[in-house]
Amino acid sequence: MVTLTIDGKQVKVEEGTTILKAAEKLGIKIPTFCFHEKLQPVGACRMCLVEVEKMGKLQVACATCVSEGMVVRTDTPQVRTARRGVLEFLLLNHPLDCPVCDKGGECELQNQVFKYGSDKGRYAEQKRRFIADPKSKYDDLALGPQIIRNMNRCILCRKCVRFITEIAGETDLGTFGRGSRTEINALPDIPVDNPYSGNVVEICPVGALTSKSFRYRIRVWETEPSASICPLCGDGCNITVWSKDQKIYRITSRRNDLIDEGFLCDRGRFGFEFVNHPDRLKQPLVKKDKEFLSADWDEAIKLVASRFEAIKRRSGADSLAGVGSPKLTNEENYLFQKFFRVVVETNNIDHRVDSKHPLPDPNFKAKNHIFGMTNSISQIEKAKLSFVLGCDLQKEHPIITLRVIKSTRSGNALIVANPQRTTLSKFAQDELIYQRGTELVLLNSIAKVIIQEKLFDADKTTLSADQMDRLQENVQAFESGEVSQVTGIDPEKIKKIAQTLAKAESVMILSGKEIIGHAENTKIIDLLQDLLGLTGHQNKDNCGVNLLWEHCNSQGALDCGLLPERLPGRIHLSDGVFRKGVEKIWNAKVKEEPGLDFDQMLKSALQGKIKAMYIAGADPVSTSPDGNLVKEALKKLEFLVVQDTFLTETAKLADVILPGVSFAEKEGTFTNVEGRIQKLKKAFEPLANSKEDWQIICLLAQAWGYDFDYTSPAQIFKELVKVSPIYAKASWEDLDKMENK
Ligand code: SF4
Ligand code: SF4
Repeated sequence: MVTLTIDGKQVKVEEGTTILKAAEKLGIKIPTFCFHEKLQPVGACRMCLVEVEKMGKLQVACATCVSEGMVVRTDTPQVRTARRGVLEFLLLNHPLDCPVCDKGGECELQNQVFKYGSDKGRYAEQKRRFIADPKSKYDDLALGPQIIRNMNRCILCRKCVRFITEIAGETDLGTFGRGSRTEINALPDIPVDNPYSGNVVEICPVGALTSKSFRYRIRVWETEPSASICPLCGDGCNITVWSKDQKIYRITSRRNDLIDEGFLCDRGRFGFEFVNHPDRLKQPLVKKDKEFLSADWDEAIKLVASRFEAIKRRSGADSLAGVGSPKLTNEENYLFQKFFRVVVETNNIDHRVDSKHPLPDPNFKAKNHIFGMTNSISQIEKAKLSFVLGCDLQKEHPIITLRVIKSTRSGNALIVANPQRTTLSKFAQDELIYQRGTELVLLNSIAKVIIQEKLFDADKTTLSADQMDRLQENVQAFESGEVSQVTGIDPEKIKKIAQTLAKAESVMILSGKEIIGHAENTKIIDLLQDLLGLTGHQNKDNCGVNLLWEHCNSQGALDCGLLPERLPGRIHLSDGVFRKGVEKIWNAKVKEEPGLDFDQMLKSALQGKIKAMYIAGADPVSTSPDGNLVKEALKKLEFLVVQDTFLTETAKLADVILPGVSFAEKEGTFTNVEGRIQKLKKAFEPLANSKEDWQIICLLAQAWGYDFDYTSPAQIFKELVKVSPIYAKASWEDLDKMENK
């Protein structure tokens, strides 16, 4: 540790800490432009100059490390003069177009000139101008589909270029020219459209980089910020939604170092337009003579309740089925499955309409890992070897991808194995492109090489003698020539991968959609576990098998019991003690027999056994691998209710459509891929006559004579915590405290 004095106050920090960070520890803010927490310091803007005793010149605080006994002054006349000088230089060419600049109101240059700048300018000459289009008086230049540059405003901090190269690992933005003609630009004929391009808009301290979707539409201070969670993948990035009059104008990062480190992908940042779309459903619709007619809530709810009740009376509770969604909140999904188990009295509930997810044995505690991630997102960068198998990581999990890129940047290895080339491949030291569906053959042959060539340390393996015998026996069948023919992978390559896996200090496996949707998904995951066990990488720091669920609340839907055989907490219905406990809290009986999963529901509907369905937040006709079959089955139903925000292909088949709301209009929680429960807050009230999904479920239950008298998602969450052992330690109030950690 090093002790130093800053502005008369002593502080102790670790060796290697910069003056800027040490000052921050004392609550002293040193102004910066080019510094960014997650980028290498470059000391380019000179705004953070400070006085250091015994050093002749002023020093840059962002790039000067502390030393024992150092005495620093951050606010002396000399420092203030230097800051004023830096600002005067920056303003020589900076246009005074703040009244029309998107950054106005949150511009670092504006703020620092206000605080440290001079009230007089001495430069009377013509300002330099970068002309984007000689015919236009505006100098806006589109660098990519979203990114617009106005070079006149640029202060050359280079944070944008450094982000693109250091964090995103891309090369589509660079610095060109020299001296006062230096400019930030895209490469000739290559647009800036990497999956993280929008971050440069947020990172740019001035209005030099703006986004097409926000530019010139509204002043920043007219919009209201609201804390939320991105709903567009399972990573769970923390976002701020900026809205006015029930319209989202932009989304920015609400930095959470455990997940996103302050970055968003472009899908999350710019993909909000669906919320503002004019085709949003705003009123309940009831089908009469094949036409949808507007109805009021009372009429629609009474109709649904009476039809459901009549079908139940006539054909039994198990002739009804419910499909929830991994895009609804935990509270909504919890309530949805409770509605079916308590009100309808059936376990015919599911949410897995896109593919069939693996489920563990009823003895799930021993195999808990296959429900999600073993490791946390922030641990990924610590593994010495990341092995991405069956997952187009950048498409499926863009922010997790940044962790993997970060890991490779610090010298860790990456192997990518997929049925096709993916964008992550360029960061990998080895890439396997195998025949789709041959993962088991590939993994068995890797295990065989490790065993045959004795690449594992018998003292470190965590496999029991039985497991070892079974594995040895299983792998015998995989003869290298045949394996190569089946998988398309050269035996030498398999040998190399086996050696890399066996000798790595730590191995983290990341698998996604390809494995989740695989017919033998459970076997693959078990084999991956065995591979880690064999090589001594099981239950070790920064090692594990991680199954990355796709949607924003896939994990939560499982946790909340949106499954035909499991109650909230993912506990099997056959666990009598647990079931009785739930019945006590619900004050209702729960059937012990598992219900039908989505595939079985379809078959049953085609046979005329399932007569009514309630689908909330899902569009299986569009997203299921066999949409035509779904359509055919749904058409056979006597009565279909769809709750959604748009007239989806599934909704078109409904008898009644109940308008739910988007993530921006609701409060609740999502559980991300790593099992982190996070709260989203309402940015604005539900559009027109739509309602929050939990309220609709309550109305339906009440119309059926049940006291679902919940008044808020907080109340539902508190009940979920009581019911589900997985969420037992969570508290609604603590979720607020966890923000911006
Ligand atoms: S465009 Fe913005 S972030 Fe990039 S160098 Fe210029 S001021 Fe810095
Ligand atoms: S990575 Fe996923 S959660 Fe994060 S911003 Fe992108 S889509 Fe949203």
